[in-house]
Amino acid sequence: MIDLAGRHTRISFYGGVHEIGGNKFLVEDKGTRVFLDFGNQMGREKEYFSEYTKPRMLNGMGDLFEFGLLPKLHGLYRRDYATHMDFGGNEGTAFDAVLLTHAHVDHAAYIHYLRPDIPIYCTEATKIILQALQQTSQDGDEYITFKESFRIHKNERSGEMVRTANRDGALENTRNYVIVEPFKKFKIDSIEVEPLPVDHSVPGVCGFILYTSKGTIAYTADMRFHGRRAEDSEKFVDSCGAATPDILLCEGTRVDETFTETEMQVEQDAKSIIEKTERLVVCSYPTRDLDRLLSFYNAAKSAGRVLVIDMKQAYLLKLFQQSENWKSVYPAPDGKYIEIYIPRKKWGILGKDLDVWTKKILCEDYQKWEQEFLDYQNRTDYSEVSAHQKELVFSCNDFQLKELIDIHPEAG
Ligand SMILES: [Zn+2]
Repeated sequence: MIDLAGRHTRISFYGGVHEIGGNKFLVEDKGTRVFLDFGNQMGREKEYFSEYTKPRMLNGMGDLFEFGLLPKLHGLYRRDYATHMDFGGNEGTAFDAVLLTHAHVDHAAYIHYLRPDIPIYCTEATKIILQALQQTSQDGDEYITFKESFRIHKNERSGEMVRTANRDGALENTRNYVIVEPFKKFKIDSIEVEPLPVDHSVPGVCGFILYTSKGTIAYTADMRFHGRRAEDSEKFVDSCGAATPDILLCEGTRVDETFTETEMQVEQDAKSIIEKTERLVVCSYPTRDLDRLLSFYNAAKSAGRVLVIDMKQAYLLKLFQQSENWKSVYPAPDGKYIEIYIPRKKWGILGKDLDVWTKKILCEDYQKWEQEFLDYQNRTDYSEVSAHQKELVFSCNDFQLKELIDIHPEAG
């Protein structure tokens, strides 16, 4: 906890100290209580949980409380979980805002547990990425909308108490997002906040300068100086200098690293490797790192090839196309140098005779958000990738490695 010279403005750290991510910094000023990020402590969480032993929903926040992975604070968490686990839930909301710097899980994942009426301030891009995360993942994290859990009601006919089913999304609610414009200051009660974009491995990141009643706090967010928007980071440094902060909250995983390769160098390297490659080029990068996607897209295009992306990336690009601010920054999912890879799923009907199996049965192999891509003109599959190996750059992350069995790349 940092007390600004005992003058009643406090910062408490509930994660993100001596570890990578997990940031949950609580700033209190004259009764105003604002969280800076609300992420999961990936390293510490792995000491207790894994893909196969996840925190149980039936226990609300309890499994995470048990190991100190969430702070035990009343008036913060969603009422359905809090009441179900006997951790209050009927008290008033005691927190005024979450200032979210970006959409990486170590900064945003535990939004799922927050009360939906607490406003979440973030950029448009951050909200878009969280929307894609929620709609395309299977783990049920509720970033944008949430469904009230553990509700029961009396069945009119039998008079019995039964669980309330979420028919037609009746229990679905929307969280309270406030989109911030870069450089445009806003107020949360006694605190004035200045949002400033910085460069990082995901779009839409912004640091904040908080002008409290007793001092100025600058928070860098995850930032770097070697990406496509390095200028934003430089500008942030200048703004910080001008604001003369009393406290600087800074994070970085490569602070003492001497080696730097810029994103433009990555693009150049990718291009020269693609040009030297005779057959299929296979690449991998984080799904939501759209600046890296752009590097491979540009490299593929200038080497005369087409980039093949997966459906999650296609969905994300589709959402970015709906934004006036972003649609010219990243390629459209149905663009000329993009193809969307449809993998075989569930029964593996793709590639079989649809006169026998029918389109309807094929669609049943896919989730709702995936089905629209089956009708895209630029969709592709293993047999087409296999037949056009010299013309493609195939994006293939660890989860998709098995696709190479179907594609059967030739040597070279
Ligand atoms: Zn990050």
